[in-house]
Amino acid sequence: MNGATTSGELRAHNRVRLLRAVHDGGSAATRSRLTRELRLARGTASVLVAGLAEDELLHEEPAPEHGRGRPTQVPGPHPRGPLALAADVREDAWELAACELGGRVTVLDVRPHDGTPEGALVPLGEAVAAHTSRLGHRVIGVGVALAGPVRFGGLADIAHLGWRSVDVPALLGLPRPAPGAGADGVTLGNDTAFAALAEARRGRLRDVRVGLHLHVDFDLGGVLVVEGRPLGGASGTGAEFGHMPLDASRPIRDRPCMCGATGCWGMDVGANALLRHAGLEYGGGRGREQAERVLATSEEAVAACAAALGRGIAALVNAHDPEVVTLSGHGPELAERAGETLLRACEPRLMAIRRDHPPRIEGSALGWRGALLGAMESVFDVFLTPEGLERWRKTILTRVPTRPAGEM
Ligand SMILES: [Zn+2]
Repeated sequence: MNGATTSGELRAHNRVRLLRAVHDGGSAATRSRLTRELRLARGTASVLVAGLAEDELLHEEPAPEHGRGRPTQVPGPHPRGPLALAADVREDAWELAACELGGRVTVLDVRPHDGTPEGALVPLGEAVAAHTSRLGHRVIGVGVALAGPVRFGGLADIAHLGWRSVDVPALLGLPRPAPGAGADGVTLGNDTAFAALAEARRGRLRDVRVGLHLHVDFDLGGVLVVEGRPLGGASGTGAEFGHMPLDASRPIRDRPCMCGATGCWGMDVGANALLRHAGLEYGGGRGREQAERVLATSEEAVAACAAALGRGIAALVNAHDPEVVTLSGHGPELAERAGETLLRACEPRLMAIRRDHPPRIEGSALGWRGALLGAMESVFDVFLTPEGLERWRKTILTRVPTRPAGEM
C-alpha cells in the first residue's frame, strides 16, 4: 500500500493510481476495466472518479461501443485539465507542444534555429512564456529534450554544436530544476533518454524488463532501459552509448570526436555519417534535408551506416543482454532499407550464448515523437503524485476563471 495508512492517504494514493492508469493507457480504458485492473470496489471507483472530475482532472465520455447492459464510461482528460508543455530541441529546429493527461499532443509551435544556444533557446523560452500565460493554471510544468547530455541543474553540452556548459534554464527564462526531478515543474533531459522513456511507457519497451534504446539523428545516442527507467547516470548524463568506440572494425586513433573522445561509434551512424559518405558538407547540425535525400537514394551510404549500427549493437547486446533493441529517429529507416546488412554486421560479433536467442531489433512505435513524448512523461511523473495533485487542487480552489474549456 506504499505506506498509505490513514483513509486520507489511501484516497490520495488511489487517486494517483487511477490517474496514472488513465494516463498510461492513453485514456482509452473504460471505467469498469480500470476498476477491475486496479482492484477497486465499484463504489470506491465511482467516488474517486467523481472527486477527480470535480477537481477538473478527469472527464468521462460514454464508450464508443458497448455490448448489451449498462453503458460504460471512459475516463479521459478534463477539458480544463492539466497540460504539460513539452519541447524537443533538435540541432536545427525545435517543436513545442501541449500534452494532456493520456498523452494527446497538440503542437503549438515549430521553428528552425541557427544552432547557437541563444538562437535556439531564447525564442523557445519566449514561446513557453507566451503559452503559459495564455493557458494559465492548466500548465503543470515544462519538459525540454535536448540533443546532448544535460547535467542535473540544467547545464547542457552538445559537442557538435559547440555548446559547452550552456545554462539552459537561464536562457529559457525558467526556474532551475531540482536534482533528478522537476519539483518546480521544469524537467530537462537528453533526447535519447526521453525517447527511451516514452518507448518504455507507450512503445515497444513497454513491459520489457531490460531493453536497449538507440536514437539516431545527426549522430547516435543510446541508453539501457531497466524496468521502464532509462539509466541516467550519476549526474544525469548517462545516455551516451554513441560516444563509445564500439566499432572494432574501425581504427580508433586519429578519429577525434567533437565530444573530446576518439573513435566514437556515433561518428559512423546518423545524418552526419550519411553526409560524409556522400561527400557532402556535414556538422554543426546542418544538412538535414540533404541527409534525408542520401538516406532515400544512396544504398552505399545507408549500408555503411547500417553496418556500423549493427556492429555496435552486437557489442552492447553482449554486454547488457537486452530482450529488445529499439531504434528511433533515422534508426527505423536504416533498419528497413538495409536490415540484412545490419544483421550481417551484428550476428557474427555476438557471443555464442547470445547468438542462439538474439534480441529483437525493432523500430520505435512512436516515430520521431519519442523525445517530445518523453519530455511530457517527465512532467507528468512529477505531477502524478499525492503532492502534485494536492498542488493542483489548491490551484483549482483559488483560481480566477479565465478561458473557455478545451481551448488551446
Ligand atoms: Zn564522442
